[in-house]
Amino acid sequence: MLTFDQKLDNLASVALRVGVNLQHDARLLLIGPIEATELMRRITAQAYDLGASYVHVQYVDDSLGLIRAQHARQETLTRVPQEYADMIHTMAARGDAYLRIDGGDPDLMSAADPERVATMVRAGREAMRPVSDLVQRAFMPWTIVPYAVPAWARKVFPDVAEDEAQERLWDAVFAATRADLDDPVGAWHVHIERLQALARRLSGCAFEALHLRGPGTDLRIGLADGHVWESGGRESAVNALRSVHNVPTEEVFTAPHAQRGEGTVRASKPLSYQGQLIEGFALTFEDGKVVDATAERGGRVLQSLLDTDEGARRLGEVALVPHSSPISQSGLLFYDTLFDENAASHVALGRAYETTMRDGVTRPLEALQRDGFNQSLAHVDFMIGSADLDVDGLAPGGVTTPVMRSGEWAL
Ligand code: ZN
Ligand code: ZN
Repeated sequence: MLTFDQKLDNLASVALRVGVNLQHDARLLLIGPIEATELMRRITAQAYDLGASYVHVQYVDDSLGLIRAQHARQETLTRVPQEYADMIHTMAARGDAYLRIDGGDPDLMSAADPERVATMVRAGREAMRPVSDLVQRAFMPWTIVPYAVPAWARKVFPDVAEDEAQERLWDAVFAATRADLDDPVGAWHVHIERLQALARRLSGCAFEALHLRGPGTDLRIGLADGHVWESGGRESAVNALRSVHNVPTEEVFTAPHAQRGEGTVRASKPLSYQGQLIEGFALTFEDGKVVDATAERGGRVLQSLLDTDEGARRLGEVALVPHSSPISQSGLLFYDTLFDENAASHVALGRAYETTMRDGVTRPLEALQRDGFNQSLAHVDFMIGSADLDVDGLAPGGVTTPVMRSGEWAL
């Protein structure tokens, strides 16, 4: 049985040795919430022990975003800290490893007007677009790892005292990130190999479309021409070494065709978007575009997501996760995409990943778009998986292959 300190050290170690695969003499950009100092300092220490030439640490206070949404003059909400975006871009474009700590209050922004929040978020995304381009192309090594901040723990475990809530969330975080094992780095290598074998298998099938059936869901998702299936591990363009972009990761995913989707899909879990919750929602697609959206709660926020731009009404990712995945088995709803998307099969509205297209990183965007690649400022995952989800792969010529049955791999 490892102590809390040992597990936190393990998490730092997984972030550096698996997540960004930090090399001797590399520079590291480390961004995380002010609540996560304990992990940020351990990561910094271990990074120098691994031979990092410099660790640039950036603390973020999410509450300042809420304060701005509530207090700033309306006409200033489109202002962006361009010099900050430029600094991050300079480091990313140089190939610095990019490590982000995830963790916050899922409900934080619910105290603000959703339209004001959406205005700020859209402007911020626009400013950060050159960085997200590098991220999406896996140019530099990057990863996201979790930290169990108290506000997040309160949301996941509302019925217990704060200390106990945080302790329980840490247990879930350590289990999902394998930081509670004696050799977490070795366990991660085995896990990533398994996911990559599944991705190779699915790419070899070269399906034309997937057919998904479940409660409230009957959706045919056309796949982009020349799509490839990817899993969490990916070689960075800058050093040709594998980095694992999400810790945890359980998914195998690819690019839908932006113009080919027919039917209705119902979310199997609530979606926490910009600090607000969208619940009980369903989307209907025609020719790949959302033509109808309903929600039991958070309909306004859902609408503002769909109105981000043309591409936000189309799919950019379909990801398969077995219902027996360890995060799913915890039975918890984390209100956090990093966890919830790895508990269930999901799709994303918005931008696709170049890495899920053949030669996607080297071909021009226009060529990818002709093959069905979706382009948008948004990329928002929502969960559709459950113990009742069946997935078929449809090959050209009409041959149907069972891919998942009752939420489990059937390949
Ligand atoms: Zn995903
Ligand atoms: Zn996604």
